[in-house]
Amino acid sequence: MSEYQLTAVGHIHSPYKQKFAIPRQPRLVPEAKAKLVFTADFNREEFVRGLDEFSHIWLLFRFHETADKGYSAMVRPPRLGGNERKGVFATRATFRPNAIGMSAVKLEGIEYKNGQLSLLLSGIDLLDGTPILDIKPYLPYSDAMHEASAGFADTRPETDMSVEFSEESLAFIAKQTDYPELKAFISNVLKQDPRPAYKKQRESTQSYGMTLYDFNIRWFVTGDHNTVTSIEKC
Ligand code: SAH
Repeated sequence: MSEYQLTAVGHIHSPYKQKFAIPRQPRLVPEAKAKLVFTADFNREEFVRGLDEFSHIWLLFRFHETADKGYSAMVRPPRLGGNERKGVFATRATFRPNAIGMSAVKLEGIEYKNGQLSLLLSGIDLLDGTPILDIKPYLPYSDAMHEASAGFADTRPETDMSVEFSEESLAFIAKQTDYPELKAFISNVLKQDPRPAYKKQRESTQSYGMTLYDFNIRWFVTGDHNTVTSIEKC
C-alpha cells in the first residue's frame, strides 16, 4: 500500500458556515468572497511570488467536514434528481477516496497584512475552515477545453428560480453597510436551489434556513419562488 501524509498550506475563511446552500461548483455565485490564510510554514511572500499575474487559480483541498464518512463506489449526483447512480469517479461528489476536492476560483488579490499572507478569492464553493492542500495557477491555454463534452453535466445548472425579499429583510440588508453585495449574494445562492434533489419534486411550501457570514437567513419555497422572510445576526 502506498500511503502519503498531506499538510495544509492554508485554510479558507468563507461566508459559508455550513454545507447546506453552498453552490455545487465554484463561480456559480461570484459574490461568494473568501480569504485563503496561509499556515505558519507557508506564511512567506516567496511562496506566491508571480501568482498575481494570474486571474484564476486551482485549489486542491480536503473535504474535511465529511472525510471521516468514507466513500462509495457509486453516488447519486444532484444533477440527476438524486435517483440515478454513477461511479464516484464519474462525478464531483464529496464522498470519494482521499476526500480531495478541486475548484477553479478567481484570484482577486494577494494581501500581506500584519505579518499574515492571504489570497483574496471570489466565486468559491468552500466551507469555512476548509484545509487547502495545494494552489496552482489556472492555465487557459491548457485547462480550458472548448471541444470538451460533459454528458449528464454538460450545461450550467438552470437557475430560473425567482427570489423575493420581505420588507423586513430588505430593511435589515440596507443597514449592513459592510456587506454591499449581501442582497445579490443571498439571491444568487437561492437561485442555485440549494434544496436536496428529492425535495424539489415536492409541491407544498417549505421553509429553510442558512447562515452566511454571521447572518441567519430564513426563506420559504413555493414552486419556483423563493421568499426571504427574515435575516438576523447570529
Ligand atoms: N468544486 C469541488 C466541489 C464539488 S462538491 C470539486 O469539484 O471537487 C461541492 C460541495 O462540496 C458543496 O456543495 C459543499 O457542500 C461541499 N463542500 C465544500 N467544502 C467542503 C468541505 N470542506 N468539507 C465537506 N464538504 C465541502
